Amino acid sequence: MRQVRENIRGACERSGREPEEVTLIAVSKTKPVSMLREAYELGVRDFGENKVQELLDKIPRMPEDVRWHMIGHLQRNKVKYIVDKVHLIHSVDTLRLAEEINKEALKKQITVDVLVEVNIAGEESKFGAAGEETLSLVREIAKLPAVRVRGLMTIAPFVENPESNRLFFQKIRQLSVDIARENLDNVSMDILSMGMTVDYTVAVEEGADCVRVGTGIFGGRDYATGKENM
Ligand SMILES: *Cc1c(COP(=O)(O)O)cnc(C)c1O
Repeated sequence: MRQVRENIRGACERSGREPEEVTLIAVSKTKPVSMLREAYELGVRDFGENKVQELLDKIPRMPEDVRWHMIGHLQRNKVKYIVDKVHLIHSVDTLRLAEEINKEALKKQITVDVLVEVNIAGEESKFGAAGEETLSLVREIAKLPAVRVRGLMTIAPFVENPESNRLFFQKIRQLSVDIARENLDNVSMDILSMGMTVDYTVAVEEGADCVRVGTGIFGGRDYATGKENM
């Protein structure tokens, strides 16, 4: 944790930013609540999960001031379970999903903050709107009264050398600036969620407001056995 914070501070220094501008989201998927509590004790308040069931299991077992981030692909039929429990949904990639969030938010009389997920590298295997459709998608979502678009999120390609993703981070930042210029009602474009364990320092240098770090904080995930690697 200290190392990650140190690296973020370094990246901020190199790019003339303040470390307070960057929110570190601890991605705790597959990890037991005991490890989330350790991170909480070290000051972490933002946790990212990618599965609805896991969120529902963990939320009641953590302090109330935790801000939960839904970062994984969200199925429409599960929206109702989490809309009023999460701080930010990072993974809105279709109008239909946004409409479902709007519907459930209206029922609960709340407004839900979301990011639009962009598949900035155009990878087959990834969810997310294509770069060129993002503006029109944001325009449509902006019409939904109970959903507020706060910005964009991207999952960059899995690479060994983080420099390979710098161009993608620059692209999505530019996209976010272009959309902000449209001055759409209900759209603020003040959050860019980008950067994971391999590339968060580059993402911070390129303007990330949120970085989503799992392995770098909690160690590797072992999906095969369900056991934890530290
Ligand atoms: C798992 C995950 C992360 C964190 O990945 P690490 O490489 O462990 O840092 C970040 N973002 C999303 C959307 C994820 O699913």
